[in-house]
Amino acid sequence: MKLDEKKFPRLSRPVSMMEPEYDVVVVGSGYGGGVAASRMARAGKSVAVLELGKERWPGEFPSDLKTAATEVHISGNAGKFSGPLEDVQFGKSTGLYHLILGEGQNAFVGNGLGGTSLLNANIFLHADKRTLQLSEWPAEIRQDPACLDPYYARAAEMLQPTPYPQDYPALKKLQVLEKQAELLGFKHNFYRPPQTTFFHEGLNNAGVQMHASTGSGQDCTGINDGSKHSTLMNYLPDAWNRGAEIFCECEVRYVRKDPNSSGYIVFFAWHGDGRDAFKDDFYSTLMWVRAKELCFLGAGALATTEILLRSKAHGLQMSRLVGQKVSGNGDILAFGYNTDDIVNGIGSEHPSPSNPCGPTITGVIDNRGPETSPNVLDGYVIEEGAVPQAIAPLFQTMLEALPAARKYSPRHIISALQSRFGGAYAKSGSIQRTQTYLIMSHDSNEGLITMQGDKSYLQFLGVGRTEHVSKLNQVLTNATGAVGGTMQEEITVHPLGGAILSSDGTGRNGGTNHMGQVFVGDGEEVHEGIICVDGSVVPTALGVNPFATITALAERSVDQIAKQRGMTFDESKNGRLDLFGRPKFSSSLTYASSVVPEGAFYFTEIMGGHIHIGDDISDYVLAASAGKGAASAMEVYVGVTAASTDDLIKGPDHLCSVTGTVSCGALSPDPMLVLRGGRVQFFTIDEDVSDGARLIYDLTLLSTSGETYLLKAYKQLDSSLAFSPVAVWRATTALYTTILRADGKTVVGRGRLRLSWRNFAEELLTLRASDKVLSVRPLFQFTSFFARAVASFFLAPLSRLEYPDLSHSGYLTKTPPARTSILTARDGVQIQIKVWDPLKGAKQRKYPLLMIPGASVDDSIFSLPTIPENAVEYFTGQGYTVYIPTLRYGRTRTAMKGDTAFDARLDVEAAFKYVREEESGKKVLVICHCVGSMSTSMALLDGNIPVDWIQGLLASQIFFKQRFGKFNGIKANTSILPNVYKFFAGPWYPIISTPTGPSLFQFLIDQVLRFYPVGSRAEHCTSTVCHRCSLIFGRLWNHDNLTHATHAHLGNFFGGIHMGMLTHLMRTGHVGQDLDDAERDLLTDENVKRLGGVKMTFVSGGDNVVFSPVSTSLCYDFMRERFGDANGLYRRVVAEGYGHLDFWMGKKSRVDVYPVCLENLEWFEEE
Ligand SMILES: Cc1cc2nc3c(=O)[nH]c(=O)nc-3n(C[C@H](O)[C@H](O)[C@H](O)COP(=O)(O)OP(=O)(O)OC[C@H]3O[C@@H](n4cnc5c(N)ncnc54)[C@H](O)[C@@H]3O)c2cc1C
Repeated sequence: MKLDEKKFPRLSRPVSMMEPEYDVVVVGSGYGGGVAASRMARAGKSVAVLELGKERWPGEFPSDLKTAATEVHISGNAGKFSGPLEDVQFGKSTGLYHLILGEGQNAFVGNGLGGTSLLNANIFLHADKRTLQLSEWPAEIRQDPACLDPYYARAAEMLQPTPYPQDYPALKKLQVLEKQAELLGFKHNFYRPPQTTFFHEGLNNAGVQMHASTGSGQDCTGINDGSKHSTLMNYLPDAWNRGAEIFCECEVRYVRKDPNSSGYIVFFAWHGDGRDAFKDDFYSTLMWVRAKELCFLGAGALATTEILLRSKAHGLQMSRLVGQKVSGNGDILAFGYNTDDIVNGIGSEHPSPSNPCGPTITGVIDNRGPETSPNVLDGYVIEEGAVPQAIAPLFQTMLEALPAARKYSPRHIISALQSRFGGAYAKSGSIQRTQTYLIMSHDSNEGLITMQGDKSYLQFLGVGRTEHVSKLNQVLTNATGAVGGTMQEEITVHPLGGAILSSDGTGRNGGTNHMGQVFVGDGEEVHEGIICVDGSVVPTALGVNPFATITALAERSVDQIAKQRGMTFDESKNGRLDLFGRPKFSSSLTYASSVVPEGAFYFTEIMGGHIHIGDDISDYVLAASAGKGAASAMEVYVGVTAASTDDLIKGPDHLCSVTGTVSCGALSPDPMLVLRGGRVQFFTIDEDVSDGARLIYDLTLLSTSGETYLLKAYKQLDSSLAFSPVAVWRATTALYTTILRADGKTVVGRGRLRLSWRNFAEELLTLRASDKVLSVRPLFQFTSFFARAVASFFLAPLSRLEYPDLSHSGYLTKTPPARTSILTARDGVQIQIKVWDPLKGAKQRKYPLLMIPGASVDDSIFSLPTIPENAVEYFTGQGYTVYIPTLRYGRTRTAMKGDTAFDARLDVEAAFKYVREEESGKKVLVICHCVGSMSTSMALLDGNIPVDWIQGLLASQIFFKQRFGKFNGIKANTSILPNVYKFFAGPWYPIISTPTGPSLFQFLIDQVLRFYPVGSRAEHCTSTVCHRCSLIFGRLWNHDNLTHATHAHLGNFFGGIHMGMLTHLMRTGHVGQDLDDAERDLLTDENVKRLGGVKMTFVSGGDNVVFSPVSTSLCYDFMRERFGDANGLYRRVVAEGYGHLDFWMGKKSRVDVYPVCLENLEWFEEE
């Protein structure tokens, strides 16, 4: 059976739409639940209905054995209560047909939106007044049984019972029962009872369109012809139209008083989205909803009692009578097999219009009256029944297994053979001759429900009174005597009691008071807001079909509660309801029914781990380890839903919604709810990371005590996944988690959660799609989308290369330079210098700041537009006027001439002169980087600039001494690399290339460079700029320090390098100190003297692999040795976690690097 959302309405809403609190929470949606939901919604209360089963409409009920079998749920105790209990669990808890195995008697009930009313035989009969006067009933009813009449009337007004019409086709089974009544001498007690079946087309009193019965006899598996007047057709649509919000597949487990209000917290296990696949966690990690005022329990006699007993185990005080006085309503289900009469008692989905089986029950021999049964406890009713089509194929075998069924007259044998070979509908076959009976009488209601751990067990201490039962057996035997034998089944379809109304208004004699309010203990005190409204409150067997009485009692309870609380009901009529549309009174801003759109896709996952409470540990793994030490566990248990797999895959955000719980004992004693709006984003480009994607979790959590937290978490995919299945597993299963307060700023805790192998296997079982046409399509789409995304990192070195993005997308708005000037060096080379003025309002600084970038780049390494705050912004913000020249080997056309670092010392000189001119001869603060730093040292050593022009100098990565990183050192040993390159491609090496050029050789370089070693896996990427830089300079950064935009636009920040320039650089690096163009040592005694007397700081990135951090250490030691350290002129700083250029271009340089530089500038400024 497929749920067809276009054909069938849906009153229920997705659980993701559930609010955390309602005025009223109703548990169950049978008669009791239906009444409470409809009346409370009509009283203007916000109402949530939590129903265990699914929503099904006529047309969706199983009609054959195969589909019916998938809806069977068997639970209970297969062993002896007094001996070892054998717990039985078969089928899904949300299955429509629920058989509860008990000792002494079993029970059969329905689970679904509409409860057992979906499966019952519709007979609406009042309890007789003598029964209501039994001593077990509360005085309020016992002394005035007529007090129930208005409530019976109210129930009848909604349920509209009517007898099987005389003008409908004559029914064989009804005729046989009538004949039997006559034979037994009870003709006067035989009649057609009122039943909640529609025999005409039209609107019912709730405004729902009904259809006339076809007489299918399928009531007990669910009627598909639209004639069955279950609560799905009346009370529930009425509640829905009045704004009640209905949620299916929610199994309420227990109720607790809310310590922070006068309300209650209702804990439930949600079976949706495959959450129940996680068997170990399903019933321990519960969702919850708050009932601010009232919680009505209408889960049926057995389930309501179980909920109460479990609530008791969780601390809710109540009467010790809860769980006791359970009755099977004296039910006897019996069959007269292979009788002499044709009964036509097998239901059929498509009955013959002239000779239908008829509704399941149409007649009754009502022997409850004082004349027939002077002792009220001897009263009983006999009704005929019908067996639904789904059971028909098994029926003969089932019956013939019973010894009483075996009869050997020729007629019996022939009939049996006819059925065996012709099937259940074979005319005159034994099955067509089988009569089904239901007897309801008065048993001793001494049944018991107890909890064994978290499971409930049902025990009937003898089915009814033995003498009474044998008498009823005799009646049945007499009734069928003329037509065949009888067999009995120990099963009740009418379980009653468990939280019975008290006879004396105290907990000593009942679980609830006369209104259904649950007693706190043995006295009169009650939990004012917990009210039982279903079969659980019925204190005795009724001797008749019970739902009319259950409904009337529920109407009475709700009415009394309303009076007690001053509520009034809106009694206006609904008019015709459009169940495909919106409810008239919905209070929700966003209305959504639980119709799952085609193409939707969902799964559930559990990730667990530890979080450290506090903001002091920023590293997730460390925090998790500290959290583990403190036993501060966290579990995220969520269902992830994509309303449309297409949108998920093609949409820019790859968004899914999230429903579920997050548990963390350190934050809340109960699981926290993920509030509506929770989302997961699949594979979004991580703007904060150079070359990676993230799965982002963004959830708002609510604890039962009302605290709100934000959970921000991510899984990180990046180049470290390359060719490593282990790394893929780690990356896709580790969730780096931060918990914040509702303000979004205050960090509460941090840690790392993981998806375990076991949970992953269970998660796979929860993958579901809703596509009707081909249910695997969205599943396939999603899994291939996921696999593609992961593969793009796993196969990164082989995947498509990223050529430079020369656009400005992702650039942040930055202040342009105040002016740009062209300077001419002494040898006639022209360079550009840019100037940024101090930010308005910043502190006035005494000296200007000259920042000198290195080779192949320009000012943008300091004025980077792709990070939130670059070095220029930082230092102008601190009050400095910032000057940045681009030296001749920078990102300029002049670089193509091949001038060396030594030649560029003249540019440094020109820049100094310009700054001093602009600044009226002031001394200059200098920050120089890499080759720019080398050229500055050369200018000083060669005497182009005197040291007294400088107030202080900060040399980044190198100065006059250099030590290459490992790879660069190997490359610099020979000049093979530049020579080979020059041979094939000429002297100019461009950093920018395109897929088609500039030449085949350059194209090949890009392909080969995919495999150029870059150290750790995390440093692999697909950027050609990055690869080309690595070949020439070595890896310039730790990728983790670059933003996505920086990495994507590297092409905008780099030029190229001339082999002449490179060869000089390699020689210098190889020798380890400054050389002039003729490779003469510049570090002569005489030259070195020129460096003395100025403060210098040498800074390195601790992870620099271009020039080892040893380079600055050598300079620092050299200066201290040469000039002494008495005046404390020299300092050295290493920034851990930084490489070469990320030192200046890093996304967090404003935090880790610039302040350290500022500290040194301010030290330079001190006279
Ligand atoms: C085959 C059959 C024929 C019958 N014929 C008749 C008849 O002709 N006349 C008559 O008067 N009676 C008949 N009955 C009995 C009658 O239908 C029930 O007595 C009546 O429906 C009980 O109503 P209720 O409100 O107590 O509970 P139910 O109607 O059983 O409703 C309980 C609801 O609560 C839900 N629920 C259970 N556990 C939970 C949980 N933990 N959390 C959330 N929801 C939960 C269930 O899924 C269900 O929807 C018949 C019953 C059967 C099985």
